Amino acid sequence: MAASTGTLYIVSAPSGAGKTSLVKALLDAQPQVRVSVSHTTRPMRPGEVDGVNYHFVSREEFLERHTHNEFLEHAEVFGNLYGTSQRWVEQTLDEGYDLILEIDWQGAQQVRRLMPQAKSIFILPPTQEALRQRLTNRGQDSDEVIDKRMREAVSEMAHYVEYDYLVINDDFAHALIDLQAIFRANQLLQAAQQQRFSALLQELLA
Ligand code: GDP
Ligand code: ADP
Ligand code: 5GP
Repeated sequence: MAASTGTLYIVSAPSGAGKTSLVKALLDAQPQVRVSVSHTTRPMRPGEVDGVNYHFVSREEFLERHTHNEFLEHAEVFGNLYGTSQRWVEQTLDEGYDLILEIDWQGAQQVRRLMPQAKSIFILPPTQEALRQRLTNRGQDSDEVIDKRMREAVSEMAHYVEYDYLVINDDFAHALIDLQAIFRANQLLQAAQQQRFSALLQELLA
């Protein structure tokens, strides 16, 4: 067990808002932050890697894991099952890493109930048209799947009020600075800084 446990962050957004790209860019510059790899029954997209983007499992395996209480939270999104491994979350936080869960609003509600200290961030696109354009440009989902995700987007975005922070992903670089600011501000909280700089504080107050 590390001297201090990490902070748990929940990041939600309608599909295509840029959540995965922003989190990836954040991680590139923040070695103390990890992202949870969910289990899902969704078919793998071209270019996705099992164990990296998701743990891709059959519906049977997912339900088996659920029966064994392996998931901290789980939800059905767009007809596929998604779930977060409880053991991995606990282990990563105990090792002192900050941890991001990229999960939908249903999962976010479950996690908030279990871990009220979690910080939650909602990412919004600048317009509905931009959202559809990004889903189309990403080129990984069929027109049918994109239509389904667009139909769900408005009801999903209505949940933004349940989140601590709101980031609008219009210009990517600007949204990334906003996201980094959230993480930086939390790292600067007095309690966290006290642990990090205990030797310095002892010296200054001697
Ligand atoms: P993308 O967000 O457009 O890249 O689409 P995905 O198919 O990767 O994810 C679909 C939805 O499932 C998103 O709203 C995610 O936040 C959600 N999701 C992914 N993993 C999990 C999970 O482990 N638990 C829950 N509850 N939702 C998840
Ligand atoms: P999500 O994980 O929320 O579904 P992605 O990170 O996969 O979203 O982003 C969806 C698509 O939009 C990707 O092709 C990504 O490169 C693109 N994208 C993300 N942010 C922006 C932005 N600010 N401007 C234009 N395109 C963006
Ligand atoms: P995609 O299949 O396009 O990668 O993700 C679709 C949606 O599922 C996204 O909105 C994403 O946030 C959500 N999602 C991904 N992983 C999880 C998870 O572990 N838990 C929950 N609750 N939602 C998730």
